[in-house]
Amino acid sequence: MMKPAFQPQVLSASQIDHDTPVVPAYATTPYAASLPLFGDDLWDLRVLRVRRNQRLDSLVMDFRSFTDSTRRLVAKEYLYARLNVKHPQYCPLAITGMKVEYYLLRRFFAYLDTVWDGVRLADVTQAILDAYLLACRLGEKGQIITASTVQERILIPIKLAAYHTALSTDALTLEPWKGKSARYIVGRSRTAENITPRIPEAVLGPLIQWALFYVQIAAKDILAARVELAGYQRASSSSDTLTSRSARLETWIAARRATGRGLPASTPRYHVHHKGPDSALHGVNWALVGRMAGVGSITDHCLRPILEKAAETMGLEPGGMDTPISCHPTTQRPWRDRFSPNTVLHETSMLVAACYIVCAYLSGMRESEIMQLQRGCHFTETTADGLITRHKLRGMTFKDHGRRGVPATWVVITPVAEAIAVLEQLTDQDCLFWPKRMGPSAVSYGAVVYSARFLKAFRDHVNQIAVTGAVPLAAIPDVEGVPWSFNSLQFRRTLAWHIANQPFGIVAGKIQYQHVSVVTFEGYAGQSESGFRSEIEAERQLQQMEDIVDRYEDYRNGVRAAGPGAAHVQRLFAEVQQELGDFSGHIVDRGRVRAMLLHMGRTLYPGLLNDCFFDPAIARCLKEVKGDKPLIAQCAPSRCPNSYISERHLPVWEQAIATAKEHLNQRRLPVLQRTVIEQQITDFSRVIAPLKGEKHACEPNDRAEASRSDGSSAKWNRVSNGRATDREQPGKRGRSQSSDGQSS
Ligand code: SF4
Repeated sequence: MMKPAFQPQVLSASQIDHDTPVVPAYATTPYAASLPLFGDDLWDLRVLRVRRNQRLDSLVMDFRSFTDSTRRLVAKEYLYARLNVKHPQYCPLAITGMKVEYYLLRRFFAYLDTVWDGVRLADVTQAILDAYLLACRLGEKGQIITASTVQERILIPIKLAAYHTALSTDALTLEPWKGKSARYIVGRSRTAENITPRIPEAVLGPLIQWALFYVQIAAKDILAARVELAGYQRASSSSDTLTSRSARLETWIAARRATGRGLPASTPRYHVHHKGPDSALHGVNWALVGRMAGVGSITDHCLRPILEKAAETMGLEPGGMDTPISCHPTTQRPWRDRFSPNTVLHETSMLVAACYIVCAYLSGMRESEIMQLQRGCHFTETTADGLITRHKLRGMTFKDHGRRGVPATWVVITPVAEAIAVLEQLTDQDCLFWPKRMGPSAVSYGAVVYSARFLKAFRDHVNQIAVTGAVPLAAIPDVEGVPWSFNSLQFRRTLAWHIANQPFGIVAGKIQYQHVSVVTFEGYAGQSESGFRSEIEAERQLQQMEDIVDRYEDYRNGVRAAGPGAAHVQRLFAEVQQELGDFSGHIVDRGRVRAMLLHMGRTLYPGLLNDCFFDPAIARCLKEVKGDKPLIAQCAPSRCPNSYISERHLPVWEQAIATAKEHLNQRRLPVLQRTVIEQQITDFSRVIAPLKGEKHACEPNDRAEASRSDGSSAKWNRVSNGRATDREQPGKRGRSQSSDGQSS
């Protein structure tokens, strides 16, 4: 598209009438009366919120913060134009994105006001913009500012110039950076890669296991404690006489004493600083005793001696509530101390965070989709043959479906259904992740997605439990010396990557990971509204590229390679190396290496016995059939020109030789079989000889490779079987090679 030439602005009086609705598109809707007009200094668009994961304050623009009237008018005109004026270069601003642009604009104006003495836009020079770029890069307190953030910030002057005709009192008169794009200015390469970081496996493994522990074991206790607490609230009364209160307190103490329990101890972080002489009462949770005994005004000086005497003789008990704590099946130890009212609330928040983690990671739903989940969203459906029952969630998806979204269904696995069941017990509201109150006390647990603080609090909390050893799960480790910084977007990206690249990954053992992959993929394949399939494919391609770069690095580092395809692939690598001058002592941008390898015209399918640098024209497995993917189950690693065997594969070959030798030790082995096995050992040894720096005299013996009707050979199938067994082990690197020839 041709960029419109930049024309300096001819300024005029305000072009927009003060009575103009800020969002004219809603002028005829029932919301019209509540929506702001252009002349208002406070644009409150909260009635237009449709997604619960959106903060209400992100829909309020307060222009009073622009104290200069010219700046204020420019800000209003600019945002109005971004919302309502079509521009050939920029998409109209969504209401949900307004606050971000408002803050960026305010930042730019604040810079002009503080550093350049309030210079008007009309007087801004390129030197000022360059200084702004530098300030954006440096950050305010010397912190590292990412290129994407700098890009976002300098886009404001660029867009102010693009919308200069919409500004009536002050506008830029230059074309910033001579029309170069913000991406170019900050030096970011155009990449399709998702910039959301994946959660590292070392972090994700324990995180998911802890979240499942909460949903499957701890939830029962937390829910029971909430019921206990609610019961106390109903029972307490402050209108009793002193006599009846002291009688009730005595009765409660006697019953407690009979079970050998102490008085509830106050939680250390809520300890009150007591004046006066030490007393056994100082560590007692008075309020809880009052609630449990049904005694209002527990601090009454007449009740004090009763409690003091009890504290001296009975001692204290952490938490103090009655709900028993479940023992972990492995350690047979309670997973925590008994609850107190404060810890019930805290554990409730942790349980919600756990439910969120389970739903987000094991369903692949976006944050906005999870936030829309309502009571009754879970249902099951049985396949037509009656053999399989699937758990499903009913909800809404938004991406590419407008502000209001469209209904969607996700196929999920049992733990997600369990998390939904827990949430339905935690709240009496319809919105599972967004209740107004959770009772018995208000907790804004929707904040799980407002910020990542609940995710971080969950990590810290489970790490404290891990230290006790009561639950046999590992703590969530730091990454490079610092705690991993969670945010809710990371779960979907991480799941897409794992499904694409590590079907037998980290959660295997606790969860049938492959089942997650199959079910989730099935859900999204059937419900393309959510678009997860394309994200998985993008991750798969990305990893494929990483694998090729890995092989190139191996080549650079002198890792030996063999197999019929080795010479050709090494020649391609050598060309890339030569072209880039990628030799020791010379630093080469890895992005350029990637770009060149991308043009090799080969797709890499890593395997345990060999890597397939696939070129369909010469694929041995496609001799008899047509196809655009390798038939890996019929791979002939030592004969196909696409086959590349490197030192990475050596251990599997050596294992195969060792196994064959074990077979030779069998007594009464038929002569024919012995001959075939010996030949097999010779062939295998020949294949790996170059990898061990040896020369092998024997040439391949086609006779021993008993041809089969399907074009594969008996001996390779034997090796392949060994390979399949290896691949079934969780955590093994390399794609499995399935009968349909696809990497999975
Ligand atoms: S025979 Fe093996 S190496 Fe050759 S194309 Fe097929 S899968 Fe790839």
